[in-house]
Amino acid sequence: VAGPSSAVHRLVVVGADAAGMSAAHQALRTARAAGADLHVVALERTAHTSYSACGIPYWVAGDVEDGDRLVARTAQQHRDAGVDLRLGVEAVALDLAARTVTGVDVATGARTTWEYDDVLLATGAAPVVPPWALDEDGRPVPGVRAVKDLDDGAAWVAMLDAAPRRGVVVGGGYIGLEMAEAFARKGLATTLVTRREVMGTLDPDMGARVREAVERAGVTVRVGEDVGSLEVGPDGRVACVSAVPTGGGPAGSGSGPAAGERFEGDVVALGLGARPRSELALAAGLAVGDLGGVLTDDRQRALGRDGAVLPGAWAAGDCCEHVERHGGLRVYVPLGTHANKMGRVAGENIGRSAAGAGTGGAAGAEDRAPARFGGVLGTAVTRFAANGVHVEIGRTGPTTQQALGSGRDVASLVTESTTASGYMPEAAPIAVKVLAEKGSRRLLGVQVVGGPGSAKRVDTAAAAIWLHASVDDVAGMDLSYAPPFSPVYDPVQIACRRLAERM
Ligand SMILES: Cc1cc2nc3c(=O)[nH]c(=O)nc-3n(C[C@H](O)[C@H](O)[C@H](O)COP(=O)(O)OP(=O)(O)OC[C@H]3O[C@@H](n4cnc5c(N)ncnc54)[C@H](O)[C@@H]3O)c2cc1C
Repeated sequence: VAGPSSAVHRLVVVGADAAGMSAAHQALRTARAAGADLHVVALERTAHTSYSACGIPYWVAGDVEDGDRLVARTAQQHRDAGVDLRLGVEAVALDLAARTVTGVDVATGARTTWEYDDVLLATGAAPVVPPWALDEDGRPVPGVRAVKDLDDGAAWVAMLDAAPRRGVVVGGGYIGLEMAEAFARKGLATTLVTRREVMGTLDPDMGARVREAVERAGVTVRVGEDVGSLEVGPDGRVACVSAVPTGGGPAGSGSGPAAGERFEGDVVALGLGARPRSELALAAGLAVGDLGGVLTDDRQRALGRDGAVLPGAWAAGDCCEHVERHGGLRVYVPLGTHANKMGRVAGENIGRSAAGAGTGGAAGAEDRAPARFGGVLGTAVTRFAANGVHVEIGRTGPTTQQALGSGRDVASLVTESTTASGYMPEAAPIAVKVLAEKGSRRLLGVQVVGGPGSAKRVDTAAAAIWLHASVDDVAGMDLSYAPPFSPVYDPVQIACRRLAERM
């Protein structure tokens, strides 16, 4: 058994990226501020820690010169700050009764067991890699790859350095769109193949606006297509993928294909989403939800299968399911913005728990975990910028379908405006879709698609929704105005005002 004696409070963190390392450092800060002695071991199965996966598509596109620029904190910086970081160690067993974690050194196979007072699972998510993308040995076919970590980033940079001519992106979500941008900017003839309308986290009418922009940049977009197989060339590398129509394409989109269409590609990027890595939690007896993520309460305390909080067990980040802030529904929104916040909440509570250890039993437990994660609205932004086209996308709150599905009576409207006063050279078109609940007039969701300066406007809406604002509230809010930044009324405000007038 490794680690310090039980006189010191011991935290074992499994997974040393956004959630895990936010938690580790916050726990140390909180414990130190309270004069407590906390020892933190962080186990990470790869060679990487604390990097921005979000920056990988921009590294592949050539905006970032090398992968080291994406590292927020090096292993040495973590160690200098007091985290006992073990890279290349995979946690293979969690014993909740004995309070131990067993890890295997991936290079040597050596096993080590750590005792803990608190354990935090921050094992993240794994990209979806369908069987058709794998060879007989279960490895991705050469030329086909997902985009998840720095190794993928380096592999993509090397693949594009080999100057392929044609690229296929499978999946039309934000990672697919960002890889399509990278391919197009690298001069590849690019095809984007997707099951549903591009950007399925938007309403289809807003997604269609994104598709039109991407097509304007010369990317061939095939909507309503399910890739199910691939062909390999004589060199053993991918040559093309084949798809069958799903019927999920928009009517009149111009993308209605022949059955079994083939898309030639020297490289194929997979942007098919991610699933939570919750195997360790499941095997240990923690609760895992219908969406596959570890279940926690809002203090990031892991739940047992009976739904009760399990003392000393915590989870944060992409390995967890999230709770929708207003509806209370369990959702899965694997984003770095949530992973960092959830990690910080867990760390604060673990630090308090370390400081309070020995001073009270169950009665003191709530006081020792005061930090709470406020839930998610699904706020997200991205862009596609290549070949003279620049389209930004922002969204927050439920889509129309999600709002109707949760039983709400919804009114919505799309407004077209500009990102700056119309006479300014920087003015670009922006479309804003706003959704509100009939009766209560509460703002539910906002989606924006437009030129430079569009995406982050969604944050105004997210702040308003977070605080339960109505469309009338937003219509009257004191938002900023000067010609280079906005028309007199901000586009989100115009959309809310128009909807308010109609309701
Ligand atoms: C290409 C790309 C672009 C993205 N862009 C954005 C964006 O623009 N905005 C945004 O908000 N989010 C974005 N994200 C999502 C964001 O990167 C993730 O939400 C975030 O990294 C999640 O952090 P995490 O710590 O929960 O999980 P991860 O970052 O997945 O880290 C989990 C770590 O745990 C390790 N691990 C797993 N199991 C074990 C084990 N048994 N033992 C030891 N170690 C283990 C893994 O190796 C991994 O390093 C993007 C993701 C990708 C891939």
